[in-house]
Amino acid sequence: MRLLLISCFLYISFSAKASQIALIIDDMGNNKKDAMAFTLPSNVTFAILPNKHLSKIFSKRATAQQREVILHMPMESLAGNNQEKNVLLSNMPPTQIVKMLKIALSTVPDAVGVNNHMGSRLTQLTLPMSVTMEFLSEQGLFFVDSRTTRYTKAEAIAKKNGVLSAKRNVFIDHIPSSEQIDKQFHRLLSLSKKHGYAVGIAHPYPQTLEYLKVHLQTLQKHGIELVKLSDVLSSGSTYAYHSNTKSQPISPAPKFQSSMKSKSR
Ligand SMILES: [Zn+2]
Repeated sequence: MRLLLISCFLYISFSAKASQIALIIDDMGNNKKDAMAFTLPSNVTFAILPNKHLSKIFSKRATAQQREVILHMPMESLAGNNQEKNVLLSNMPPTQIVKMLKIALSTVPDAVGVNNHMGSRLTQLTLPMSVTMEFLSEQGLFFVDSRTTRYTKAEAIAKKNGVLSAKRNVFIDHIPSSEQIDKQFHRLLSLSKKHGYAVGIAHPYPQTLEYLKVHLQTLQKHGIELVKLSDVLSSGSTYAYHSNTKSQPISPAPKFQSSMKSKSR
């Protein structure tokens, strides 16, 4: 009887646990206007681009708010490599990759983790990802796979190297219209209800920030808690979720190059 009561109690406490969402604002540091994001709740993580004049300023300001900061590391996309300076490229030797990661981190000094900016090519490649994850493991940093391609190996390689990790489940403003932002936000909530937690990535667009400011206040009503990113990290398997990203796996398929759109992330 006693055992039954204890089991019931455990069951009830488990079911009563709120579903969790973690939210990342990517691409911080490109623009002075991104500072509007500092009015969001401090559990929202900022992914700050390195080597910008605002990188260190934003890193310090976010940390002063007890906000988690991660390095938003530019990685080579399928579209080519001219979209950002200081991008990790597939043809770089391991020493160069490590050197660039070190320089980038020195400009986002408060980073407790890393996620990829672009990277639809690089995250498919075992060697550069292994070098990156070995470095993160040495530095005690976690990794969040932005999943800019469904063929990414980044999270699997992170786990293999003992790096705590998570992956993006929903892009909130991939299409930055108010209808889509609302739709994607609710998708994030329903995934977190289904799986216990979900990770969303948004950008510091004015319409997104306005939306989040209002709607993050309604989470409690939905039985959902906004937690810090480090609260949803795992070292084991996480639930599989494939987004509708359209990119192709890297293989010598002849039609590959011509079918790629220049908008690849
Ligand atoms: Zn980005």
